[in-house]
Amino acid sequence: MEQQPTDVSRGTSLSDEQRRAALIESLPSVDESTPLAAQIAADARRRIDLSGRRFERPPSTRVITIANQKGGVGKTTTTVNLAAALAQAGLNVLVIDNDPQGNASTALGIEHRAGTPSVYEVLIEDEDLAAVVQQSSLIPRLWGAPATIDLSGAEIELVSMVAREARLRNAIDAYLRHREEAGDRLDYVFVDCPPSLGLLTVNAFVAAREVLIPIQCEYYALEGLSQLLKNVQLIKNHLNPALHVSTILLTMYDARTNLAQQVAEEVREHFPDQTLRTTVPRSVRISEAPSHAQTIMTYDPGSTGALAYLAAARELAQRAAMAPTSTTEES
Ligand code: ADP
Ligand code: MG
Repeated sequence: MEQQPTDVSRGTSLSDEQRRAALIESLPSVDESTPLAAQIAADARRRIDLSGRRFERPPSTRVITIANQKGGVGKTTTTVNLAAALAQAGLNVLVIDNDPQGNASTALGIEHRAGTPSVYEVLIEDEDLAAVVQQSSLIPRLWGAPATIDLSGAEIELVSMVAREARLRNAIDAYLRHREEAGDRLDYVFVDCPPSLGLLTVNAFVAAREVLIPIQCEYYALEGLSQLLKNVQLIKNHLNPALHVSTILLTMYDARTNLAQQVAEEVREHFPDQTLRTTVPRSVRISEAPSHAQTIMTYDPGSTGALAYLAAARELAQRAAMAPTSTTEES
């Protein structure tokens, strides 16, 4: 019988907490007036505070759709790295690659050449998710359902299908039951979306309870956000009453620019409860990882970017118990 991950505050011995606190205390004090020195000090604290921690399991499986109809804002990067961080912290995590580009499949290092059983077969040919899910070779508790080029046709093929908006939800529900019956419950399911609001994204919204929106801290960041929130509200009203924006993550944050700080401030003003305290910095290491078929969590686990995603994952896990607030989408 495998040991279940335990909450730090309850399950782990106090001495572990004390040891971490003492280590952080013992860090030499540096002049943090330069950004680089401040970053190194912050990373050291995070490394001591977070490395080797096991996160608390949510009371039931959390299904989270990562959405933003803008391309290149960090949806896929956020999906795979949060998933990897949670899996490394002892949780069972599935990533569903719902974008025909297959970038999440690439970053997870799972097979997704044409002909590989994939999300396309699940959506269009009623294949079981269990038949297409692959286990990560690098992170044992991490699984992925790949996207192949076939998925690009699904947007149109779905139009004429029965229950076209609920096909992914039905597949996920069946798979979650299958895993629970096998005594191997999933803790998190992340659905990575294409940069559009078509039927693939609608399927992802219907399948999830939670929406996580990555926001790139740049000019125009908030443009299109109201349209996205409107769409979430529409799906909530008509197809999935439980849907809500639970989480916003600021990505590609460059603390040196006023613009990034302004965008971050504005987002926090509008979404004080949803926005994670952790921001993800712009980092070359993060963008390199996919070309090695890896997430940053294995490609360079000690890097600033990996530590940021680990901190964000911990925040996400700690908010598991937070009840959905019904007014969030209107704000
Ligand atoms: P999306 O899925 O929203 O289209 P991606 O996650 O694919 O966005 O990111 C777009 C590009 O930006 C990719 O090349 C990715 O490697 C890069 N990228 C994402 N996050 C970061 C980051 N924090 N630092 C540097 N590059 C990043
Ligand atoms: Mg993407």
